[in-house]
Amino acid sequence: MKLMRPAPLKGEDMFRVLADTIPQIVWITDPKGQAIYYNKYWYEYSGADIEQTNKEGWFQIIHPEDKYGVIKSWQEAIKTGKPYEREYRLKNIKTGEYRWFLGRGVPIRDNDNKINQWVGTSTDIHSQKITLEAQEFLAKASKALSESLNYRLTLKRVASLAVPHIADWCSVEFLEDDKLATPIIAHRDPKKVKWALNLTKNRKIDMEASSGLPQVLRSKTSELYPLITDQMLKAAAKTKKDYALMKKIGFTSVMIVPIIIDNKAIAAIQFVSTESKKQFNRYDLQMAEELATRSALAIQNANLYEAVKQRELQFKALFDANIVGVLFTRLNGTIKDANDAFLQMTGYSQSDLEHGHLNWKTITPSGFKSENKRIIKEILKHGIISPFEKEYIKKDGSQVPVIEGSALLDKKTEDCITFVLDITERKRLEQRKDEFIGIASHELKTPLTSIKGYVQILERIIEQMGDEQLKTYVKKTNTYINRLNSLISDLLDVSKIQAGKMELNFSRFRFDTLVKDAVEAVTHTSPSHKIQINGKTNTVIKGDKHRLEQVFTNLLTNAIKYSPNADKIIVKVLKHKGELTISVQDFGVGIAKKDQSKLFQRFYRVESTAKKFSGLGIGLYISSEIIQRHGGKMWVESIKGKGATFYFTIPTKKQK
Ligand code: ADP
Repeated sequence: MKLMRPAPLKGEDMFRVLADTIPQIVWITDPKGQAIYYNKYWYEYSGADIEQTNKEGWFQIIHPEDKYGVIKSWQEAIKTGKPYEREYRLKNIKTGEYRWFLGRGVPIRDNDNKINQWVGTSTDIHSQKITLEAQEFLAKASKALSESLNYRLTLKRVASLAVPHIADWCSVEFLEDDKLATPIIAHRDPKKVKWALNLTKNRKIDMEASSGLPQVLRSKTSELYPLITDQMLKAAAKTKKDYALMKKIGFTSVMIVPIIIDNKAIAAIQFVSTESKKQFNRYDLQMAEELATRSALAIQNANLYEAVKQRELQFKALFDANIVGVLFTRLNGTIKDANDAFLQMTGYSQSDLEHGHLNWKTITPSGFKSENKRIIKEILKHGIISPFEKEYIKKDGSQVPVIEGSALLDKKTEDCITFVLDITERKRLEQRKDEFIGIASHELKTPLTSIKGYVQILERIIEQMGDEQLKTYVKKTNTYINRLNSLISDLLDVSKIQAGKMELNFSRFRFDTLVKDAVEAVTHTSPSHKIQINGKTNTVIKGDKHRLEQVFTNLLTNAIKYSPNADKIIVKVLKHKGELTISVQDFGVGIAKKDQSKLFQRFYRVESTAKKFSGLGIGLYISSEIIQRHGGKMWVESIKGKGATFYFTIPTKKQK
């Protein structure tokens, strides 16, 4: 079969066919603007039939808010004969939905240049318009969100922006302690806001409800109800009164989107359309969700700001409270700022500080130079230095003892914050305590010496009497007197060391003999342990024999005391590179790492063993002082539960 080419269409027919195939509204009016033709799309879009169209024309479906503007532009065009262009919303009569159109009209003139018709089109620009509007709205909202760091205030602004642009009602609901707090509500009419807020006062929301706000908060997913039907209202209303109320509000469409922070919905924004009859679609929901995301960010910012502000306030309170000295320093010595507590402590003034007269290095006594270096190294390595004792030179030249701790604030600039506590009072108290120990031990020592003398006389008498029982009593008395004597001597030593008055009597003697004598003496009093000596030094040293014996006795008696379940102690002596190294090893309770460096402090005793073993915690303090005075070092190596080895060295070269 041969296809027939259709006869070409002419003039008006051609126009109509074309106009009907175009996906736009095409219209023609007479010179006065009276419509005389609409294309097929018009009927499709508006839902109006020919009769309705003839009766009321296009004007009936223009959004009431756009009518005035359209009339004005149209009248202007007819008056001037210039092309017409205007954006407006047109309603679909059947669904009630409005969409945005761009209307354009041009005059058609006859040979005399007189307008005899207007031909125009109305193009659906709804999607572009909505996208553009959404972008504009989000930009405005973002600006509002970034303007304040009070998030309730910010969300109030956002809610106001959403009305009437997106919805007739907008409310932001917050969860506080898992309950709904008073919401933020926006509506064009302030009276309605007040009314709605009143309604929320006594509301009882079933937080377990399977849809609506509780579900959005629980599931962290949005809900969109494009069209609220009467049935839905009935289902949602708990009472007839509720239903009547909802009906009165006139819900058309609802969107609820969660505001999620740290994976928790802390709030939700509800958009409700009522009087505008607008039906939300998925594009509206997308925009609402975007708004919620931006709101979440703003809230997080606000929270962060609030936390920082709070911390700043707390810190300012600490700085101003002047309980401790607070300084902002640099590792090079600069003091950038200091509170009154520090200034008072050191006797400097605010103006000294402002004029840069204060530098922590220059007001630190020269004796602390090596300590300063250690501190700087430590702070650069760990970012913090735990409290240590030092002194500052006051403006009047005297010194103030302090405890100080610092933290590095910025590694690049080496900015630090330093806390300084005046410990003058504590030092005074310590001094008084030391003085007391000195006086008390002295007072005890005098009668003890007399007792010892009388017991010696008694001993001689009993020896002559030959009474064996009395002899053992006197022997025991002597043992206790000796123990008491050595305790008092130790206490006296402590106060001597503190006062820098411990005197050493140097002489030359064979070191190996000292080791042997000390071991023998201890073995004599404590036969429970076998003390083994390994090695020889074959060295004559110059030292205080009595004091070094004291060190040995202390280490050996400790080794025995702290190893009740063992019976062996190993003493090793070694001469190497101009120094003697001596170790005393036991197989007892051992010492945890954290305690090891503290053992040599005055009165320090390991807490876990202090209850089981009696002692004063001064033996090692005295011993290490004696060794230091001999130019040596003392330390310990141990694994808790596996015994301990105490070491000390004595230089044999460069001896005084
Ligand atoms: P004291 O023994 O009188 O307490 P010291 O100054 O001699 O005082 O010792 C200090 C602390 O060190 C002791 O209290 C104990 O906790 C610990 N210590 C000393 N020697 C040993 C050791 N050989 N084994 C385990 N712990 C020890």
